[in-house]
Amino acid sequence: MPDEASPTTQTTNELRLSVLQNLATLTDPDLDDLSRELQSRIALTRLTDAALLVDLDGTVLDCNDRADSLGATRDSLLGRPLWVAPLWGTADPATILAPLIDEASTGVAGSRTIDTGDNSSRPIRVELTPVTDSDGAISMLLAELRTLADERETEAIIEATTQALAEAESIFQAMAEYTSDLVCLHQPDGTFTYVSPSVRRLLDLDPAVLAGSHPVDLSHANTRDALVQALSDAARRGGEPTRFRHRLRHRNGSYRWFETALTPIRDSSGDVTQLQSSGRDITQQRETEQSLIKQAFHDELTGLPNKALLLDRLDQAFAVSRRSLQPIAVLFIDLDGFKIINDTLGHQAGDTALSKVSERLSAIVRPGDTLARLGGDEFVMLCAGTDGARGATAVARRILGAFDQPFVLGGHTVNLGTSIGIATSLGADNATQLLDNADTAMYEAKHGGRNRFAIHDEVDQSLALERIDTEEALRRAVTNGELILHYQPELDLDSGRIVGFEALVRWQRPDGRIVPPGEFIPLAEESGIIVDLGKWVITEACRQAAAWRLFREPESEPIRIWVNLSGRQLGDPDLVGFIERAIADAGITTDEICMEITESALMGDANSAADQLDQLRALGISLGIDDFGTGWSQFAYLHRLPLDVLKIDQSFVAGLATDRDSATIVAAIIDLAHALGLIVIAEGVETEEQLKVLKELDCDQALGFYFSKPKKSEAFDEVLDLR
Ligand code: C2E
Ligand code: CA
Ligand code: CA
Repeated sequence: MPDEASPTTQTTNELRLSVLQNLATLTDPDLDDLSRELQSRIALTRLTDAALLVDLDGTVLDCNDRADSLGATRDSLLGRPLWVAPLWGTADPATILAPLIDEASTGVAGSRTIDTGDNSSRPIRVELTPVTDSDGAISMLLAELRTLADERETEAIIEATTQALAEAESIFQAMAEYTSDLVCLHQPDGTFTYVSPSVRRLLDLDPAVLAGSHPVDLSHANTRDALVQALSDAARRGGEPTRFRHRLRHRNGSYRWFETALTPIRDSSGDVTQLQSSGRDITQQRETEQSLIKQAFHDELTGLPNKALLLDRLDQAFAVSRRSLQPIAVLFIDLDGFKIINDTLGHQAGDTALSKVSERLSAIVRPGDTLARLGGDEFVMLCAGTDGARGATAVARRILGAFDQPFVLGGHTVNLGTSIGIATSLGADNATQLLDNADTAMYEAKHGGRNRFAIHDEVDQSLALERIDTEEALRRAVTNGELILHYQPELDLDSGRIVGFEALVRWQRPDGRIVPPGEFIPLAEESGIIVDLGKWVITEACRQAAAWRLFREPESEPIRIWVNLSGRQLGDPDLVGFIERAIADAGITTDEICMEITESALMGDANSAADQLDQLRALGISLGIDDFGTGWSQFAYLHRLPLDVLKIDQSFVAGLATDRDSATIVAAIIDLAHALGLIVIAEGVETEEQLKVLKELDCDQALGFYFSKPKKSEAFDEVLDLR
């Protein structure tokens, strides 16, 4: 405490407090040297007395211009102990000042009057105040030196102070000219009054043009709020710099990141007259930070998010989905045959393959969805906003489609496939389980024969979805050569000879299982796949007819192959043309291929069907009606259609030997057919008795297990050879 009443006013007290506050921020380690120096100079200059800043040893760190009046220049003071400074005339104040410094260092302010001896007219009063930083630590001391001046003199000093402040600013500006940081002075509202020339290099802007403008004009929209907030904070806060990060526009349109400290400058009455800012360009640093973040969360080879980022996004998406009740789907994508590429073409080719796969997958992923690489040849797609597995299957199809085209790897053309597992959040309790489920489904897909997708068994997996699965598989079966034809011989009942075969399609699944047509033909018909599937059957039957021809005497009766046509195929305008080409391509004649259609198939669009049948008949192709007796049994159309053959459904044949009605019906059908000039073939003959009755009823031909089950063509090579 001062031991004497100081001639201070309320205002100067407040001023001292704010100066002390300003000084307190000088120890801030973030403050650059220029700002530190500027702030200490400005703070000291604001004091009306000669003021020195000394460290705890008493060494002078800075001083204001008032010291001049005591006969000491700034240069003669800086770096020296306070008591050896040329201030004290003949006096040696060390013994007086040392205890004062010690006291102040422990936080007790104090003052002493030192008699400057003969050379000085007046004694100097020294007042020491500890400067406490924001942590409460005393880092330096403020020494105010005052001769006993009268009031008038003080006023004059205040005036001089204002002038000195202006000078300090110009000194500051002189220093600012050389700084590499962006150093500016602002009006309290932020308007630039001074911008350092470094702005030319930093932002390619003219400092003179900037003066008078507002930093908001340069600010990036995303950081504008931070800037505005900092400006208002700085004007309100005591003296501590307000620090913030923001982006400023370069003349070329890009934005640079700055870390800026904004400090208020107050006048002698404590009002903020201006703000000083010091901004460091941290663009490079941020880029490094960003790339480190990217490295931590992205896969180096493909640039895709890695597992860590995927799990994070999965967690978020899972939480959102729980709230919105909108399921999310995960597709686990594993490459088929990738190991072979690595083993045979090398790791470089493997890496190229992975990059190319990532490109193709990236083209499929929708905005907002995540495609990640888990490592190895595993990728994961996270789809939000799909309607569960159904939406995901559409994505899965597109992914499978993306592998249709081969990959070119260093001169080699390689086919890659992928197995996809689908799971949705409906069947999982958390993100990790969801991923596991998709993984499990992926293995199912691999097991199912690769290059396909499988859906994890879960609550929402309806039969419809299974159907979608099969439908997709069936579509591929047609192009992947998974279909085969079995042939069932038809015998002439008079001669007992084979006169033809019925071609019956089977689906040989990659796991070796043979699926009977009853399990997939209805689906093929509903989905329209039957059109392509049927074309394959026609082509294959024609090829077989040509092959069997080689075994036969040139003059012998033709072996007819009967092909089943479904109603959907009759709706295909290309059907007739296709059959004609298939026959020509195989090099066979039109009497070697016959078509059979069920009654119900004819019921659809009867006119267009009749039209197609007429055209086929015109080509010389025999036509038969299949499963006769099971449909509408409208005998009327039998003579309206260009038919050659009527096949009695096996259900009537089954009852032939045992129940009278069946025999009566079969007898009536045979008579009617003969009356219309049709050949009658009985289907499903299993016993000798059935055969006997059919012969008695004058049936023309028959087929059934009694003669042979449908078999692969090779099974009949020998039989045909013997002819
Ligand atoms: P469908 O045209 O009536 O073919 C006769 C079915 O009866 C065949 O069944 C055959 O294996 C079976 N069968 C033959 N003899 C006997 C017998 O003595 N006893 C018994 N219990 N069954 C016998 P499959 O091969 O399972 O074919 C079922 C149906 O699938 C066919 O009935 C046909 O409607 C359809 N289908 C088969 N291949 C094709 C095709 O290429 N295209 C179209 N659109 N449909 C086809
Ligand atoms: Ca048939
Ligand atoms: Ca039939």
